[in-house]
Amino acid sequence: MSAPAGERLRLGKAPAKINLYLEVLGRRPDGFHELVTVLQTIDLCDDLTVELRERRGEIAPGAPDVTLQLTAPSSDQRLDISTSADSIPTDLDNLAVRAADRLLTSSGAAGDIGVSLQLAKRIPVGGGLGGGSSDAALTLRLLAELLGSPCSRDEMQSLAADLGSDVPFFLTGGTALCTGRGEIVEPLSGPQPFEIVLRIPDFGLSTPTIYQALNAQPFSGPAPALSSELISSIDDALSTTLEDLFRNDLEVAAHRTEPRLASMLNQGGFHLSGSGSTLFRYCHQGGPAGTETGGQFVRAVSISR
Ligand code: C5P
Repeated sequence: MSAPAGERLRLGKAPAKINLYLEVLGRRPDGFHELVTVLQTIDLCDDLTVELRERRGEIAPGAPDVTLQLTAPSSDQRLDISTSADSIPTDLDNLAVRAADRLLTSSGAAGDIGVSLQLAKRIPVGGGLGGGSSDAALTLRLLAELLGSPCSRDEMQSLAADLGSDVPFFLTGGTALCTGRGEIVEPLSGPQPFEIVLRIPDFGLSTPTIYQALNAQPFSGPAPALSSELISSIDDALSTTLEDLFRNDLEVAAHRTEPRLASMLNQGGFHLSGSGSTLFRYCHQGGPAGTETGGQFVRAVSISR
């Protein structure tokens, strides 16, 4: 959808994800790992504003002019998580800034217009919840709308994949089966909405470090045919049976790297999301979010496309 002519500002919510299933098929010659993973968006969100503005004079002609300001998230009692803004970059190291920079360049608009981003972070950094990737995908979507949809769907997917393996998934969200290094996305109809408890440790984990610690076998491909059984079991699952499908091949590497995770994973049916450090468990019937010690406990709900 394009913005009406003259519209200069768009707001949106960038949701976090959890991995319901993550199987590593092996290490590829390019250093990435070949995956079969099922991602699910949840209602823990960052808030993002994308605004077109005049270019600043000090920026070299034709160079993209993108700025990012971090703002405090509005209070939401259920999803109040204390995140530290200190660890969040505001330059091109921030995937949202990089996304705007790349889209301005590829659409040919870089020399004409500047972009201001305002980002209120709720999704913890280094948590395996895809916050940075989700911010980047939403930046691409909102900015493309403001620029009058300058890219085809395929070009958007390819821009997203260049930014990071999880970014293409967030262009659609909901439930999806993702393969390759994660960038090949097949949307699924997904299970009925279900509730989870997130357990957010007070330390983050680095994705490259966890993949390195995995020490996976070389993968020479091609990937085996996708399991239609896996797809239909996820689509048909009730929240009570979803748990039986859970798998994450990064768990062992994560608790080898961070021994504090091992004891958390062993308590109360928690699973690791992505490369961690966030854990989640399905929440079948009310009750307290968490009685164990260590980390913040937050309830969240799955969201569909
Ligand atoms: O694609 P993304 O930038 O999110 O990946 C971050 C790092 O995680 C990669 O540089 C790589 O070390 C590791 N990774 C991987 N296999 C994947 C996805 C990520 O080895 N499928």
